[in-house]
Amino acid sequence: MMTEVFSVTARDGLARAGVLRTAHGDVRTPVFMPVGTKATVKAVDPDELRTLGAQIVLGNTYHLHLRPGEELIAELGGLHRFMGWDGPILTDSGGFQVFSLRDTLLEVDDDGVTFRSVYDGKAERLTPELAAQIQERLGSDIAMCLDICLPADASRAELEEAVRRTTLWAQRQRDLPRAAGQLRFAITQGGLDLQLRERSSSELVALDFDGYAIGGLSVGEHREPMFEATSAAAAFLPDEKARYFMGIGDPEGVLEAIARGVDMFDCVLPTRTARTGSALTSEGRLNLRNARFARDERPLEEGCACPACTRFSRAYIRHLVTQQEILGLRLLSLHNLRFLLDLVAGARQAIERGEFTSWRNGVLN
Ligand SMILES: [Zn+2]
Repeated sequence: MMTEVFSVTARDGLARAGVLRTAHGDVRTPVFMPVGTKATVKAVDPDELRTLGAQIVLGNTYHLHLRPGEELIAELGGLHRFMGWDGPILTDSGGFQVFSLRDTLLEVDDDGVTFRSVYDGKAERLTPELAAQIQERLGSDIAMCLDICLPADASRAELEEAVRRTTLWAQRQRDLPRAAGQLRFAITQGGLDLQLRERSSSELVALDFDGYAIGGLSVGEHREPMFEATSAAAAFLPDEKARYFMGIGDPEGVLEAIARGVDMFDCVLPTRTARTGSALTSEGRLNLRNARFARDERPLEEGCACPACTRFSRAYIRHLVTQQEILGLRLLSLHNLRFLLDLVAGARQAIERGEFTSWRNGVLN
């Protein structure tokens, strides 16, 4: 009997817990995926990631294609071996980077997109075929289809065109060669327009992918309409496939999306916030540059099992941050990742106990 790629193991309202099966191991959902843009989660090594509770990491096709190139990574045994991580890896398609760096965008047509490299300004071309081929060579466990992700101020006509092209490109990527055991997810678009969301979802679902992402949200729109669109987008997707909200990582947003039936998340927020000297905690963000922490002997978060909280005080981490010591940013990165990974693991356990709503209300208070 063939094992399903994804199974739901528990439900609580629309929230669900499940298992996603990949070539490099099972991922228990809901899951937060730390972002390793350039084949590294900034300042954190793979053993530390594992200890923090990370099950799967994300790599960026755009960056790895331009530096050092997928040929070199393939020659050295693939992305897992190259970065020393033997767990599951998801690679994005590069679409988000190409379309979000608006001033580097040169031309979009039905064949693909031309843009200027952020590295050397050279014109580069990305097509659905190339995005699939790069990810095949990287050897990731989950490859994403190239899509067109527009900013929050896009017009309806622009969104409609993005939906059309995203489907056209998904069709062309559907049956291209894959790495051994590689899953392929399509990305739904449509912005906040629920009609277009439905169209995009139904066209992509008809093509039968291994899983589906909700793209084109968390791009600068207001939160309430974003959550409404998330509810609609999730409802248009098949119950038996994993759902991935791309680019959300603030604690409240992640819990709202889980409540709406989303299973997977990624965001640079925990590590980027760390590099600005801030900690994610159950009391909200702490800016360690603030003088009120100068004599604060408490850990960043009471009860947190991360390397920062088990050994060091807020006062010490503040000292490291204000002196721009590398250890300060590293400790904050480890803590912020642990905080988010623990939060999502807590959500999974609450769903399994059938207490997600009351647990979430407790956390958000
Ligand atoms: Zn901590």
